[in-house]
Amino acid sequence: MSANENRQREQIVDFGRSLFERGLTAGSSGNLSVRLEDGWLLTPTNASLGRLDPASISKLDWDGRLVSGEPPSKEAFLHRAMYQAREKAGAIVHLHSTHSAAVSCMCGLNHDDCIPPLTPYFVMKIGRLPLVPYHRPGDPELGPAISKLAARHNAVLLANHGPVVSGASLEAAVYAAEELEETAKLFLLLRDLPSRPLDAAQIDELKTTFKLEI
Ligand SMILES: [Zn+2]
Repeated sequence: MSANENRQREQIVDFGRSLFERGLTAGSSGNLSVRLEDGWLLTPTNASLGRLDPASISKLDWDGRLVSGEPPSKEAFLHRAMYQAREKAGAIVHLHSTHSAAVSCMCGLNHDDCIPPLTPYFVMKIGRLPLVPYHRPGDPELGPAISKLAARHNAVLLANHGPVVSGASLEAAVYAAEELEETAKLFLLLRDLPSRPLDAAQIDELKTTFKLEI
């Protein structure tokens, strides 16, 4: 096993514990994955992110076959769909985090952009967040539905379910998922209050200054 793979396994354990302890994932929900030179790592099925073992993390090839470790999360196909659409994605975080999941259940969402640009940090880390229509757990049609939107978006929100967020590294994907969760919280807090999201000129300034692809 390469030194990089060892390091990535340790990072999955560390970030998993951190997300679990802060209530961003409950029970055995949520899964983390990392792209390797020779396949990818994914958290196992029925595993709590709070108590992962680096040696039993699932290692898969790009056809979805298990190379080593315990059987992978049943949501493996959802990660694979996002990696296939985003060649530069180095890691993916999928959570059922409360506030993002709450937004995913709301009526009247803009399906092209579920959460308004309330802060520059949300624009910089997530950009536009499209809604993937509802699919039952394990429905194979969910994969293509994610791929279609992930080609243009580093994060998508699954209706009545939760977010799938990609990043160049696991750290970047986790931080983006946390930014999304915090902005979902702000969105819910402001729902019945007059609020002032960033305007088009302010978003253009961010795009130019930080070379954003959104
Ligand atoms: Zn899920």
